Amino acid sequence: MEYRTGDTPGIGRYQCLHCGYIVRLTSDNEKLPACPNCGHHAFEKLEDK
Ligand SMILES: [Zn+2]
Repeated sequence: MEYRTGDTPGIGRYQCLHCGYIVRLTSDNEKLPACPNCGHHAFEKLEDK
């Protein structure tokens, strides 16, 4: 499952598919930003263990 900048996929960790940077969303209303590290727009969700 791929998520993109502007999506609101919910609380969790999302890893940039381009550089591997991990973005944390702390609210279900928070939008995925562009990657702060490389500016890419596609992420995958990391499962919390
Ligand atoms: Zn990135």
